[in-house]
Amino acid sequence: MAELMNCPACGSLFVKNSVRDVCEKCYKEEQKEFDKVYHYIRKRENRTATIDQVIENTGVEEELLLKFIRTGRLNLAQFPNLGYPCAKCGTLIREGKLCTSCNKDLKGQLESLAKEEGGSQKDQPRNTFFIKK
Ligand SMILES: [Zn+2]
Ligand SMILES: [Zn+2]
Repeated sequence: MAELMNCPACGSLFVKNSVRDVCEKCYKEEQKEFDKVYHYIRKRENRTATIDQVIENTGVEEELLLKFIRTGRLNLAQFPNLGYPCAKCGTLIREGKLCTSCNKDLKGQLESLAKEEGGSQKDQPRNTFFIKK
């Protein structure tokens, strides 16, 4: 069964597809932009370009460029200065969702949260939040 969804870029309905997350028309537009970026960045002297330089020289939108990077269409292994922002603080990262320091923060928060919960629930029966299926 084909599943319909709204294109996040232009809002028109299209058949959901595992390869594309936008409609045919927008995908073609994206592909055009991607070709531009790729054409630029694969030149030897541009391999070390930063995000800002790529945007400036290709005219591609930042959001789209980051999407190419996030989805792996641009292989970061080949381009040392490209990356995407940490979901929390915006620092440029090259893998995962958060930068190292936010990751550490999050871990610390989770740990202290677990400690607090463990403390307050000490006297309650363990199956308080048991959900029947
Ligand atoms: Zn569209
Ligand atoms: Zn961060």
